[in-house]
Amino acid sequence: MLDKSPRPTGVNVPNDLAAHWMPFTANRAFKKNPRLLAGAKDMHYFTADGRKLIDAAAGMWCTNAGHGRAQISDAIAKMAATLDYAPPFQFGIPQAFELASRIAELAPKGLDHVFFCNSGSEAADTALKIALAYHQINGQGGRSRLIGRVRGYHGVGFGGTAVGGIVGNRKIFGSLLAGVDHLPATYDREKQAFTKGEPEYGAHFADALEDLVNLHGANTIAAVIVEPMAGSTGVLAAPKGYLKRLREITQKHGILLIFDEVITGFGRLGFAFAAERYGVLPDMITFAKGVTNGAAPMGGVLVRDTIHDAFMTGPEHMVELTHGYTYSAHPLACAAALATLDIYRDEKLFERANALESKFADAVMSLKGQPNVVDIRTIGLTAGIDLAPSADGVGKRGFAGLNSAFHDNDIMLRAVGDTLALTPPLIVTEDQIGEIVDKVGKVIRAVG
Ligand code: PMP
Repeated sequence: MLDKSPRPTGVNVPNDLAAHWMPFTANRAFKKNPRLLAGAKDMHYFTADGRKLIDAAAGMWCTNAGHGRAQISDAIAKMAATLDYAPPFQFGIPQAFELASRIAELAPKGLDHVFFCNSGSEAADTALKIALAYHQINGQGGRSRLIGRVRGYHGVGFGGTAVGGIVGNRKIFGSLLAGVDHLPATYDREKQAFTKGEPEYGAHFADALEDLVNLHGANTIAAVIVEPMAGSTGVLAAPKGYLKRLREITQKHGILLIFDEVITGFGRLGFAFAAERYGVLPDMITFAKGVTNGAAPMGGVLVRDTIHDAFMTGPEHMVELTHGYTYSAHPLACAAALATLDIYRDEKLFERANALESKFADAVMSLKGQPNVVDIRTIGLTAGIDLAPSADGVGKRGFAGLNSAFHDNDIMLRAVGDTLALTPPLIVTEDQIGEIVDKVGKVIRAVG
């Protein structure tokens, strides 16, 4: 049926597509067939060529409250007209203090301090630097090793890239950081295939940390960083007991534990933070994306009291942590985030995600049996559907093939390797879940 609802018009393809070097994009393929977005509202994107796409990706794990929220854009506009920019060092704005308190209130007890930055990558690097600095001021400067995990993603800064566990993201960038190790990934298809929620199998993957402690000595290791659910490498939820075991081992050896919740923060798994769902208290949590519903760049690190307080004991006139950004706690981002948190609270969106989880899981699992589907994983309002690896990665299943299948089926979807990642805004209705699953089925059959 032709959808005649109003949509933005008047967006033309620019004459010069070369000047903009697009990130994480096959630029040459894209520019032969550019897809431009013209607008977005609630659960949909509108393309320049007049199509209406259902957003099964929350943009890029960002717009948990759906698109075009007037409350957020009004707050940004008002702030821009009142205080466009404020220097973040040695000056503050009330909104930043209020926002930090509200984020700390949502976080597990004990994580009461927030350091603001502008992205998930900056949040990861900030957390790693805080860990290194903490050990230094604690008289344990020998603790400089950082540990990530295979299939982990922590953004694209030098620190985040180095601790990240995606070979393709690291291999053309030289030696990055010294003293970095990786725990094994927590995924075993044979034992975990078609799991809803946390896999039963795999807590023991955490024990690899003991091996690294044996190898290097605990007093050389600063921190371990992991995602409670690895999103960018295919929706891999930490197995039951895994994070708890990681917490026990890190605690035993004085190693800091950082959860990267850039994706899982703000409701994706049905809780404000995944740390709460898993019942594990890390030393730091990084966040970004959902904090502003994607409407303004912002990231941050929630920091445990003991760590924060250690920086507050030197001479009062001294700068405590020589780190920060020109746009840390930017007024427009603070305004966007405060309005976003109001929406999450007033519309009970985290609870909504929780309540919808099993219906979402059942709906997505109905795709089992479709051509080439070798695994489906779901947790919260998130699913990863693994397709059998394509022979060359460039055919129907490659960048162009997948994207044209998404386009033909009017759906905004992300493919990460051979995994289709479904992460709709938390406002998604049951009917829209049905529609998304139906379209994903068509995509799978088109590229199968
Ligand atoms: N950490 C995680 C877990 C992420 O998923 C991402 C982004 N997908 C990042 C860090 C990096 O965030 P950004 O792109 O905002 O720098």
